[in-house]
Amino acid sequence: MSKLGNATAKAELGRATWKLLHTMTLRYPENPTQDERDALWNYFHLMSRLYPCGECAAEFQLLLQKYPPQTSSRRAAATWLCVVHNEVNARLGKPEFDCAHLDETYDCGCGDEPISSSPTTAQDN
Ligand code: FAD
Repeated sequence: MSKLGNATAKAELGRATWKLLHTMTLRYPENPTQDERDALWNYFHLMSRLYPCGECAAEFQLLLQKYPPQTSSRRAAATWLCVVHNEVNARLGKPEFDCAHLDETYDCGCGDEPISSSPTTAQDN
């Protein structure tokens, strides 16, 4: 793949990932259980190890050390991720996003249905 092709693919992956992450934190419970807090914490740390762009993953791991995930509420998690994304924006020379606009920017199209917090048992592997 050409250098341009790689850069385009990396940017597309980044956009898709940020969209998922922001939408997820904005659907995170207002009052999470300890299990839900652990799940979000683990999600970000596992993602920082497994993210396909190695350079991005290494930088994200450093960011998580500096700004540990805030899991106490939906607002805390969504604002934390917005700040972390802005740190990446700053490093890449991109404009800062106004975190006051999070709610109107991210809509999962899921209505008000609650997210499932109970673990399911895998039947097939
Ligand atoms: P993106 O940064 O992808 O943002 C997409 C949209 O989200 C924007 O158009 C805007 O509407 C909105 N947005 C912007 N900032 C915020 C914010 N703070 N909060 C909420 N919404 C916001 N690329 C590299 O080249 N090097 C890296 O080291 C690197 N590290 C990355 C680490 C992670 C964890 C991720 C997910 C991506 C990383 N990327 C990296 C990709 C990079 O961040 C961008 O996704 C990519 O460059 C495309 O940028 P973009 O200008 O389309 O906007």
